[in-house]
Amino acid sequence: MDDLRLLIDLHIAAARQGPGSTAETCRAIELSGLSKQRGLKVADIGCGTGASTLVLAKELDAQIVAVDFLADFLGVLSARAARAGLAERIGTVTASMDSLPFEADSLDAIWSEGAIYNIGFELGVRQWRPFLKHGGILAVSELTWLTASRPAELEAHWRAQYAEVGTASSKLAVLEHNGYAPLGYFVLSESCWLDDYYGPMRQAFPAFLARHGGSDAARALVAAEELEIALYERYRDFVGYGYYVARKTESVS
Ligand code: SAH
Repeated sequence: MDDLRLLIDLHIAAARQGPGSTAETCRAIELSGLSKQRGLKVADIGCGTGASTLVLAKELDAQIVAVDFLADFLGVLSARAARAGLAERIGTVTASMDSLPFEADSLDAIWSEGAIYNIGFELGVRQWRPFLKHGGILAVSELTWLTASRPAELEAHWRAQYAEVGTASSKLAVLEHNGYAPLGYFVLSESCWLDDYYGPMRQAFPAFLARHGGSDAARALVAAEELEIALYERYRDFVGYGYYVARKTESVS
């Protein structure tokens, strides 16, 4: 089994594939001001099995297009939507986030939790902007340094994983430079990592290893996740996930 299939197998049964929670998605919705509007069209990019998609469909008067490049995740999302009675509000599209099939000026909001790093924050916010209507909302969560400096071990790990890791002020500047007005920023609570993401993942390790006969590749994947969890537990004062909510502004150039 290749590494991608293993990754899918480890994560597909989880309620979410990155840090977050229903309460934090609702907080971002509140900052966006979208609750007052009707007949919205919203995309949820890198939606995984739909943790945020289901909240958006429940909380907003909207049609949600859930996008992921893994059809397996979208299959689980559709089943969850049906069970929650939300199927009519949610459509799925299998596509890569760097070639989205939307028309220009067609979306009231673009949501993306724990996923934009796959193409990089700056490229993502720049490439997705044309799909938003004027005044449309961008809401993304992104790995963020919480302090101006940090332990070398932590810095080295995340720089190697994600070159664009930065402070909130640097992310807000990227938004401003790319045609967005920031409306709000907050940091995901530690329980979004420990209780909602890493905890369930850890519980899934033994069955995952058993399914794969303790193969080298499966053990390597678990070891990599364990390392990330240990780093978070040790250094959570320095690193977190920032949630950024911004409005598309008129382009002046
Ligand atoms: N938003 C979900 C999933 C976050 S994990 C949650 O918070 O639970 C990141 C997701 O991005 C995964 O579902 C992965 O399949 C998807 N992804 C990774 N690279 C992608 C790409 N290039 N295009 C579309 N989706 C991608």
